[in-house]
Amino acid sequence: MKVRITEYLEIDVKREKWVCERCGHLLIDASENYKKGCLVAEKPFEEVHPAMVEGQAYSFSPDPEYVRLLEFYCPGCGIMIENEYLPPGHPITHDIQLDIDALKKRLGKGEGISEKMLEAILTKTVRETAERVTKGETTATVTEEVIKKTIDALKELGV
Ligand SMILES: [Zn+2]
Repeated sequence: MKVRITEYLEIDVKREKWVCERCGHLLIDASENYKKGCLVAEKPFEEVHPAMVEGQAYSFSPDPEYVRLLEFYCPGCGIMIENEYLPPGHPITHDIQLDIDALKKRLGKGEGISEKMLEAILTKTVRETAERVTKGETTATVTEEVIKKTIDALKELGV
């Protein structure tokens, strides 16, 4: 099961990996800083914050001697996952560290499973049972098989 962490960042709980939400690319182990699994670009301020005033002491553009802008991209699809302003020479920040074991426990108790997900699984169960019984299969056989499938689908979600 995948859990959304930021706009373009998910955790694949079973595989314990950071994943791009947009394309599914595996970035890096969930215990690592996800930024280490991204492509990094330093953007020149002339591009992102061009000077608003020329020939003056203050241009309203950040001074590259004091700050730089780093952008982190998914290597799979190129979406910008995150960006940050840092003093030159400062290491990238490790801003998200998840307790995977605690997350697994919470998901094991059914947390994070939406009503829509359960409704979709149960609707499929009822529909398949009805179709097969209509075609002449015995209710007991169909029910047993469909319940097994439903349990597998719930296990897939981590329930
Ligand atoms: Zn991607």
